[in-house]
Amino acid sequence: MNKKKTILILPGDGIGPEVCKPAKNILESVSHIYDLGLSFEEALVGGSAYEETGIPLPEETLEAARKADSILLGAVGGHQWDELEYQYRPERALLGLRSELDLFANFRPAILSKYLTSSSSLKPEKVENLDLLIIRELTGGIYFGEPRGRKEDKPVAFNTMIYSQEEIERIGRVAFEAAQKRNKNLCSVDKANVLEVSVLWREVISDLSKEYPDVKLSHMLVDNAAMQLVREPKQFDVIVTGNLFGDILSDIAAMMTGSIGMLPSASVNSENKGMFEPVHGSAPDIAGKGLANPLATILSAAMMLRYSFGFEEAASNIEVAIDKVLAKGYRTHDLEGSQDTQLSTDEMGKKVLDNLKN
Ligand code: NAD
Repeated sequence: MNKKKTILILPGDGIGPEVCKPAKNILESVSHIYDLGLSFEEALVGGSAYEETGIPLPEETLEAARKADSILLGAVGGHQWDELEYQYRPERALLGLRSELDLFANFRPAILSKYLTSSSSLKPEKVENLDLLIIRELTGGIYFGEPRGRKEDKPVAFNTMIYSQEEIERIGRVAFEAAQKRNKNLCSVDKANVLEVSVLWREVISDLSKEYPDVKLSHMLVDNAAMQLVREPKQFDVIVTGNLFGDILSDIAAMMTGSIGMLPSASVNSENKGMFEPVHGSAPDIAGKGLANPLATILSAAMMLRYSFGFEEAASNIEVAIDKVLAKGYRTHDLEGSQDTQLSTDEMGKKVLDNLKN
């Protein structure tokens, strides 16, 4: 039996609890099939934590996150908390967890299942068999740079985009290593024609490439990258970029896979400890209606098994089960499909569970 591993589940707000439930069932099932020794804890985060404790990331949750071997998060946020001061906003909990646990590398694969080609917003021939990976630096750049703020006497506000050589190097290494395991093509995205921080980014990534001669490195300006992603997305294998550019580019890539409800993500630190979560938010418009697609969260759970624990067989069992369910035509409401095979959140989770190889 594998050494016991504790997974902290942070369901959060809106559809978060609805999509975490089937993902947890599936993790329990593969733990049983492969004798993985997974155990589960749950804690409050986001708006629901604010309601109970007055803050979105209570110390108890943070302590549980530090102790856990891995974290599965649903989503946080909702309109009822939109007017709160910055430090009380649900989204603050995400930034807190990422920086507290030093989760500096964010993996966002954009893989289009061959059964969902018609759900993509691009023409089928442009996205057929799409499989690209965006690696975004997550704990630095303009979202964290100081100084930030507003001038008291004038209507002026400012943020600081800052990266050190060390920060660029460590995300660069993650990206080169990921490219080595894939098709060995890495595109580094920056804005080196305008920003000094991007000039340094380019220098550091170029220097690093000498250590990875088997990986073909290219550089692209972010405005061009946005255009190329919708023009010819299959030209990319792995993209590495900073926090702000990665935030935007990964959402563009999201739409190619048919629905934001299909996209998993992983944020890991240098020991591969990570937080795994769907790319989507708390979707207040559909919360509580059984309409949420749980596949992004289930795929995030598969990424956890692969990246945090190295349980490759269990991870691919889940991914194959999802493919089988999609091949049979089953869809949640966000994906194009026939009425006869439309499933609720729980039903979709159950179908995946039923299609796992025992
Ligand atoms: P959203 O991702 O919640 O929803 C955007 C659209 O996609 C909505 O129409 C929604 O119904 C749909 N959608 C999202 N997930 C889906 C799923 N699993 N299945 C089917 N449809 C799905 O983005 P938003 O509406 O801009 O934000 C809502 C709240 O979520 C805000 O408070 C925002 O701050 C927060 N948010 C949280 C995270 C996170 O927790 N990581 C990420 C983004 C937004």
